[in-house]
Amino acid sequence: MRLLFATLVAIAGLIGPVAAETPAKQLFGAKAVGSQQRPAPLGSYAKGCVAGAVQLPETGPTWQAMRLSRNRNWGHPETVDFIRDLSTFAARQPGWKGLYIGDISQPRGGPMLSGHRSHQIGLDIDIWMRPPDRLNLSRGQREKISSISMRRAKGAFVNSDWTRQHHEILKAAASDKRVARIFVFPGAKVQMCKDAKGDRRWLRKIRPWWGHHYHFHVRLNCPRGARGCVDQNPPPRGDGCADAQKWVDDILNPPPPKPRDPNAPKPKPRRDYTMKDLPRQCAAVLQSD
Ligand SMILES: [Zn+2]
Repeated sequence: MRLLFATLVAIAGLIGPVAAETPAKQLFGAKAVGSQQRPAPLGSYAKGCVAGAVQLPETGPTWQAMRLSRNRNWGHPETVDFIRDLSTFAARQPGWKGLYIGDISQPRGGPMLSGHRSHQIGLDIDIWMRPPDRLNLSRGQREKISSISMRRAKGAFVNSDWTRQHHEILKAAASDKRVARIFVFPGAKVQMCKDAKGDRRWLRKIRPWWGHHYHFHVRLNCPRGARGCVDQNPPPRGDGCADAQKWVDDILNPPPPKPRDPNAPKPKPRRDYTMKDLPRQCAAVLQSD
């Protein structure tokens, strides 16, 4: 018995420091299912994890989850509710059967082995720009089919695939109290600024960003009472349309690159997060059944 105990201590001593230095993305990337815990986003969008995440059903009445092999259709229960609601709205738009849903989070959130810096706490959702014309795609088809880009001139403008329905779906998402912000390419925001009639308050949450022309990215607020979940500062006041126009102007007429200070220290390459970087509770999320 004493020997067994001593052996266990020795093993723990060996594993402990190794796990502590292992990139957290390897530990979280190895988990196949969510933790058996009360649902809770822990930490911030780009540095955290999620307890008790649920899986978005692969196919619902108004959505399909895409690229199932990635196993990133896991989120906080409120995220799944939101997807049900927004896809129900989308399914009422002409030409749309609902929504194709891209990455949410890994089963326990956390950093990922590839792609995304955010999407770590089960509250970020990538939604394809491609209007779903059918919701009976097989698993194999969902690996192969691609979304459609909506941009022209490197994102300064929308192209002819952009429709009023895109506008209405993004507007519905931005008008939802659960939504903190939505990332989309600059040309789309400027187009929505031009096409918006009446109330413009929802435009505040539409944020111009790089990429995001094959999908838009919805970020939800921390759910009510979610202690340990860290909200981002809200977007600046106003509709943000002048700022989006500035992005577009910079795409069309790129400002000259800033001269580099030869004495400036070299920027450090981004270090992988280890468990020490994440909220303390994320260790329990990993260890839970
Ligand atoms: Zn995203």
